Amino acid sequence: MGEALVACAKCGGLLDVVYDWGRVGLPSSPAAFEARWSNRRDPLDASGVWRFRELLPFAPPEAVVTIGEGQTQLRSSSAVAEFVGLRPDRLFLQYEGLNPSGSFKDNGMTAAATHARMIGARLTACASTGNTSASLAVFGSTTGLFGTVVFVGSGKIAYGKLSQALDYGAVTLQIEGDFDDALIRVREVCEARNIYLCNSVNPFRLEGQKAIMYRVLEGLDWNPPDWIVVPGGNLGNSSAFGKAFAELKELGLIDRIPRMAVINATGANTLYRLYEQQGLRWNGGAVDAAAIERFYAQMDAEGRRAQTLASAIEINRPVNLLKCLRALETTDGAVRQVSDAEILDAKARVGAGGFGCEPASAAAVAGARLLVQEGLIARDERVVCILTGHALKDPQATVEYHSPGGAGTGARSSNRPRVVANDFDRIMEVLEEIG
Ligand SMILES: *Cc1c(COP(=O)(O)O)cnc(C)c1O
Repeated sequence: MGEALVACAKCGGLLDVVYDWGRVGLPSSPAAFEARWSNRRDPLDASGVWRFRELLPFAPPEAVVTIGEGQTQLRSSSAVAEFVGLRPDRLFLQYEGLNPSGSFKDNGMTAAATHARMIGARLTACASTGNTSASLAVFGSTTGLFGTVVFVGSGKIAYGKLSQALDYGAVTLQIEGDFDDALIRVREVCEARNIYLCNSVNPFRLEGQKAIMYRVLEGLDWNPPDWIVVPGGNLGNSSAFGKAFAELKELGLIDRIPRMAVINATGANTLYRLYEQQGLRWNGGAVDAAAIERFYAQMDAEGRRAQTLASAIEINRPVNLLKCLRALETTDGAVRQVSDAEILDAKARVGAGGFGCEPASAAAVAGARLLVQEGLIARDERVVCILTGHALKDPQATVEYHSPGGAGTGARSSNRPRVVANDFDRIMEVLEEIG
């Protein structure tokens, strides 16, 4: 059985996938990728990841593991544009909640599952705040190619996500501790047992996630937007997006790279502190590693642990920090933090003016709003927010927000349920009140 490495044995840095583009036969125009989409009979053409296969050319077509991921949409939303402070036609939402497991993670998991098959892995594993485990579990259950073991922290996981892992038959280990603890353990276990690791430390996951940007560009006729705004947790997505743009520019498929804003929750703001407050930069690869170590040492000394209602981005030590710094350099990026209250208000506005999303996703919308208020994003710039996960992942957060005394109390987006007697006249009275 083949061996899969995720990190350099010498320095511990994560590996990166690099291609010899001269040997890859690229289509003459990006329109060719879109044309494939109408061919629903070939699973590779129908996949929102693999119809761009020349842009992630690490797998022979017969090895590809696909479950129809990436059938997602870029939609303009005037209601959310108004909330964010943009011209009505300038705000776009990329709905990654429409993936088979309900989050963007399926874009990366199809690539990791493909690589797992290429090396003959029988057992796969991941640590997860919920969506990675749901995604891995559904790839395991639908294809039957490998077993799945998922490590989740205790207490924090949203019920929608936990229910998926259980229903899809993943061996589910609830570790006492948080996501960071679970990730350390799963890395140890995978190395000791030669189990295939599917966290975003796996460079092939990031290859698949590049396709989110290809679809965004496709939705805009390959006319790059001014801004991409994405929530930041382990920073796999933002890292993948930066790599996608660097490669597309090198290949001459785009002539301009959009700027990227990565949004942390205030309660889980490692990237914000390091990038915006301490000025940490990629520096062409010469990152100040000592500054990062000092930061984590202080975090541990103070006993500071990530805490946010947006559980998917509740992370202390983002594993893709260095790759994300590189992406921020590529995209002339910015990092912001938003509070849980801002996230929940933004989430309700997305729900009222779009398909809805889970709390972590709404951080992107709250972040875009903040950047417009600051004036860094102008009112007539074209902005794409990535809605990373489906609204039904975490219904508890939604119901609590709208309930009497919940976080939405007094907010314009609050939609309180009204308790009415089981009586025709009383029901009519209530309907009169709301007009
Ligand atoms: C995983 C996840 C994130 C964080 O993405 P990273 O690539 O880890 O930064 C954000 N939102 C949702 C819904 C997620 O599942």
